[in-house]
Amino acid sequence: MSASAAPMSRPGADNAVTVPRDRAPRADGKVALVGLTRAEIREALEGIGLDPRQAKMRTKQLWHQLYHRGARDFDSMSEIAKPHRALFAEHFVVGRPEIVEHLVSEDGTRKWLLRTDDGHDYEMVFIPDADRGTLCISSQVGCTLNCRFCHTGTMRLVRNLVPQEIVGQVMLARDTLDEWPKPGVSSNYDPEGRMLTNIVLMGMGEPLYNFDHVRDAMAIVRDEEGLGLSRRRITLSTSGVVPAMKRAGEEINVNLAVSLHAVTKEVRDEIVPLNRKYGIEELLQACADYPGVNNARRITFEYVMLKDKNDSDEDAQELIRLIRKYKLPAKVNLIPFNPWPGAPYECSTPERIEAFSSQIFDAGISAPVRTPRGRDIMAACGQLKSAAEKKSRAELDRLAEEKQAAL
Ligand code: SAH
Ligand code: SF4
Repeated sequence: MSASAAPMSRPGADNAVTVPRDRAPRADGKVALVGLTRAEIREALEGIGLDPRQAKMRTKQLWHQLYHRGARDFDSMSEIAKPHRALFAEHFVVGRPEIVEHLVSEDGTRKWLLRTDDGHDYEMVFIPDADRGTLCISSQVGCTLNCRFCHTGTMRLVRNLVPQEIVGQVMLARDTLDEWPKPGVSSNYDPEGRMLTNIVLMGMGEPLYNFDHVRDAMAIVRDEEGLGLSRRRITLSTSGVVPAMKRAGEEINVNLAVSLHAVTKEVRDEIVPLNRKYGIEELLQACADYPGVNNARRITFEYVMLKDKNDSDEDAQELIRLIRKYKLPAKVNLIPFNPWPGAPYECSTPERIEAFSSQIFDAGISAPVRTPRGRDIMAACGQLKSAAEKKSRAELDRLAEEKQAAL
């Protein structure tokens, strides 16, 4: 069954980084249903003795209960006959991640520290706005990459999250926000009037280094008979794993955000070391080739504002030149650098960020500044990191060298 014993997904021969072990099976031997495809649920049900016809019917019911009703246990699935509920509870669990901590910022942002069945911590963040609510989810525990300005990058990669743990984040957010359809309401998910409207894969980890699990999880999140979020409301952010980008457009098929952050080789090599493998021009060509990209579906370039590093007028002009050169339907998202203990950079001044933004706007390219949210609870971009992973500066430098050698 893939959710418990799938081989670690690898992005291909380009991936020179150490591949971590996959998730250990649950101690109680039960299998989590969340994250399985319909075919896998059916197979699991046949595995515990249901005949194919029964298995098919029960799969449909379970799918509805899990993803439409948000059932947290088998007991509450009243449309399934009691003996079957008991049988399911013997062999399966629904499979929500465990919540270790739930913090609410003074600006309404929420951060959850979650724990996997095998004891690893990861985080997700919910950012409410007037007209939308964005859930920022993680794809890995830690990250193999080591962008110099990112807190998660100072962690070792512990392991990839499996679909259960990725989809489970969305389900937990629905639980907390009390947004499951009430009994008697049979309509599909309607984003209007809800708090959770958008999902961004911008939490811990590099989603394109966990390709298969992210793809399978997004298929479940988008499934119209379940969570039903439209692909237009889902954005995947990558630091620039060029060889996986075309496939991402074809198989995951959501909006793309690219962590560009610099426009010269020298600076990008320093702050996003993956650039030494896949350079800026190659990355922008992959953006131009991203399937489905057009004016209505632009690519977002994320650009973290680092004082005296990547924030000059020349940088802004070069950014404009590059976007034009590759004829990219693009918008630029300027992210004020969010500090974390021991970070080697400072945030650009508000005046510099404003000037940078205006230059890009003047060239006809949208370049809003992202308001930092949840800084007081360390929930802002790049601040996520498992608390159990505190390291000294010397250890951090050693780890960065190790990761570099692996690229
Ligand atoms: N690994 C993916 C997605 C997670 S990071 C990626 O790198 O794109 C989500 C975004 O937060 C990225 O654009 C990342 O560069 C940015 N980020 C990381 N650390 C940051 C920090 N300290 N301040 C502001 N943004 C940061
Ligand atoms: Fe990993 Fe993204 Fe952080 Fe870079 S910015 S270290 S890719 S999580």
